[in-house]
Amino acid sequence: MNLETYDMVIIGGGPAGSAAAIFLARYGFNVCLFEKKAFPREILCGEFLSKEVIEIIKELNLFDKFLSLNPNPIDKFCLINEAGSELKTDLNFKAYGLKRSSFDLLLLSAASDSGVAIFKEFGVSQIKKDGEIFYVSAKNSDNIIVNVQSDIVIAAYGKQNILDKVLKRDFVRYKSPFNGIKFHIPKSMLVNLAPNVISMFVAEGIYCGLNEVNEKAVNVCFIENRSKLVKSSRQNLIEFIMANRNLNQIFSNGSLEQINNLPAYGTGNIYFGRKSLVENSIFMIGDAAGVIAPLAGDGIGMALQSAKIVSKILLRKKVEKLSLYQAEKLYVKEWRYLFTRRIRTASAIQKIILNKHLGSIGIKIAKTFPGTLPKIIEMTRGSNNLIQV
Ligand SMILES: Cc1cc2nc3c(=O)[nH]c(=O)nc-3n(C[C@H](O)[C@H](O)[C@H](O)COP(=O)(O)OP(=O)(O)OC[C@H]3O[C@@H](n4cnc5c(N)ncnc54)[C@H](O)[C@@H]3O)c2cc1C
Repeated sequence: MNLETYDMVIIGGGPAGSAAAIFLARYGFNVCLFEKKAFPREILCGEFLSKEVIEIIKELNLFDKFLSLNPNPIDKFCLINEAGSELKTDLNFKAYGLKRSSFDLLLLSAASDSGVAIFKEFGVSQIKKDGEIFYVSAKNSDNIIVNVQSDIVIAAYGKQNILDKVLKRDFVRYKSPFNGIKFHIPKSMLVNLAPNVISMFVAEGIYCGLNEVNEKAVNVCFIENRSKLVKSSRQNLIEFIMANRNLNQIFSNGSLEQINNLPAYGTGNIYFGRKSLVENSIFMIGDAAGVIAPLAGDGIGMALQSAKIVSKILLRKKVEKLSLYQAEKLYVKEWRYLFTRRIRTASAIQKIILNKHLGSIGIKIAKTFPGTLPKIIEMTRGSNNLIQV
């Protein structure tokens, strides 16, 4: 069989896959990318874009195009518990809110403009390795099959995927109680919402973030622990909003019931534990490598950073004639250096906040020592300057 050969095959066209494709194409590699969904598409996310994201967007020369999408600037963070106790701080950086449909399309289009061969609406179903060569098969909804071969495969297919089972990854055995759901709520349904603030409302077993994503829509995104909440996710959200006076006040009269009619984008079984960073010599990036608790961390920032690390290492592999094994070791070392502490801190904060008593104590401490919250924000939000390779 005569197969198309690429220097690298990337699976997934979210922020991680598209950014890796752009970096690698700009380094002169011949890259192909498979994305199974039709873009633009929505995906579960709080749609809060931190400084790390913005720095890499600038590095990719996409900032002007990004601004042309009219993202909503955000410079304040506010945490509010059930009792109405409020903790507000400056972010000390400029972040943005933007729908993922727009953001991800920007990156995927830039990958295409950089010369990446993009197989749109092709889902990868098989990856085989014979000696040094990977054989990757993908299929679209008309059952058209594309087969390609490459020395290097990068998996950027997100937090959970059938391919995790195909690759027999350890974590697929674990069941997580965490569900996440996102809505885009028309601004006309809401009152008293400051556009420059990301607000996080917390209660036992659930937290919910609110931030504007453009002049017409507000992202409402929440995570719930299903071992503590048994009703449907939509119902849990409505009850959560009703029980929280500060949050309730944001919804104008009668608008709350309208949540029942809005489309929801959700996922269950969100696993925040450790994952392998290289599996059968496939480089895992973005959420495929590790998921950070969104309450205190920015997954898109990590997705872009891991794309950047892997690309730099693969460039070094070529220039310094490193073996694949050496490149894998370098990637694991760099990834752990950049992200392990962030992920652990974010996970600990998520545990505290989802517990009513610990959460209240945490808020009291942070109020008594006002430097605590900005410090935590700094610890869990990375910076582009941290890159070593
Ligand atoms: C509740 C919640 C809220 C969050 N809020 C924020 C936030 O506000 N800010 C932030 O920075 N991060 C947030 N995150 C994290 C962020 O959404 C992820 O970290 C980010 O989407 C990871 O990007 P990715 O490219 O790795 O994966 P994804 O964005 O999941 O992209 C993966 C892509 O791969 C494609 N794909 C999957 N399987 C295949 C296949 N077999 N073949 C081809 N293509 C395939 C998918 O269609 C998808 O387009 C949140 C996460 C959760 C759970």
